[in-house]
Amino acid sequence: MTARPASPAASPTGSTDAAITRELEAWFPAAARALPWRTSPRDPYNALVAEAMLQQTQVSRVIDRYTAFIARFPRVNDLAGASEGDVLAMWSGLGYYRRARLLHAAAKAIVTDHHGVVPHDPEVLRSLQGVGRYTAGAITSIAFDRPAPIVDGNVRRVLMRLHGRAFAPDDRDAERWAWTRASELVHASASPAVFNEALMELGATVCVPPPAAPRCDQCPWAGRCNARREGTTNQIPAPKAAAKQRVVCCISLLARDARGRFLVEQRPSSGMWAGMWQLPTLERETRWPDDAAIRDFAAIRGLNLPTPAEPLGTFTHQTTHRIVRFRVLAASPIACNRKSASRTWVDSFDGLGVSSAQQRALALGITPGRGQTTTPSSRPTPARRSPRR
Ligand code: SF4
Repeated sequence: MTARPASPAASPTGSTDAAITRELEAWFPAAARALPWRTSPRDPYNALVAEAMLQQTQVSRVIDRYTAFIARFPRVNDLAGASEGDVLAMWSGLGYYRRARLLHAAAKAIVTDHHGVVPHDPEVLRSLQGVGRYTAGAITSIAFDRPAPIVDGNVRRVLMRLHGRAFAPDDRDAERWAWTRASELVHASASPAVFNEALMELGATVCVPPPAAPRCDQCPWAGRCNARREGTTNQIPAPKAAAKQRVVCCISLLARDARGRFLVEQRPSSGMWAGMWQLPTLERETRWPDDAAIRDFAAIRGLNLPTPAEPLGTFTHQTTHRIVRFRVLAASPIACNRKSASRTWVDSFDGLGVSSAQQRALALGITPGRGQTTTPSSRPTPARRSPRR
């Protein structure tokens, strides 16, 4: 359980925190989106799964995956007892696959160390892999209705605008201030579950991030918001310098055998898309591999490339930290093609953990020409501490 703050902070327009929280709690029931994890009563395991999926991923992408994931692993014991391959397969398309492994590890720890019961104490929750301060606070408050603060990009932005606090992007006090303020408010709330979820909802749907303008006319705090009164909503939060993205160039080979199956490989257990399956793919930082390197790469896998190579298409996949360029080339198996534990022939990607980028690569082979030189479209929502819901 989190400690109650020592002293209340000054509130906008001098109102008490209790009054501020009641306004938001009263607004939420009519404003809340119907989302599959918003069940009544809340299930702590479902909340853990939803929070893991929502990290760095938009709600719209999570909804279908969440429903299928819970159908496949309805209880924490089901997830704990599943193979990593099954878990990754059910995570396919969500990206940031490390989250799936950490969730899997957390489920195992809940079963072995907590008798299969999701803990309610945020400090105990944080001992689980992949559960940070935000996720612990979200589960404690939303699933158990206990006062624990949450701060992500949405919450930080709402609180900063409400109080008119324009912190510099690199000001570490901003994070500390936001957690303190969130803690004061959730302790003053009538229902920590309703208040915290309402705070998330307000940031996701009303007090939205730039470049969109906040919809202040729909905000329950419009009458008390300092940024609105001072006309500074477009200056809070101050813009951050864009993160530098690495460029990775990938040549993926689509080879089919006489039965129409295609060759796939499993990626190494660390690094980008760790442990996921893919078409044989040669990667280089910054520049494209030359023709000789591509042919060597193919030959080692028992594949042959026509001369000249037959391009099936290109596309670009963006992540927060990388711009990944793909060229998909047609290849054919030669007589003695090589299989191994991490390389095999399959009819489809079904049942395998596959990144959305590789699903696009395969689609180019199934529908030649589709996606030729496409613009980036796979960039996930910015980091969790940015808009995500
Ligand atoms: S009034 Fe506008 S800027 Fe202020 S909290 Fe509400 S939506 Fe955000």
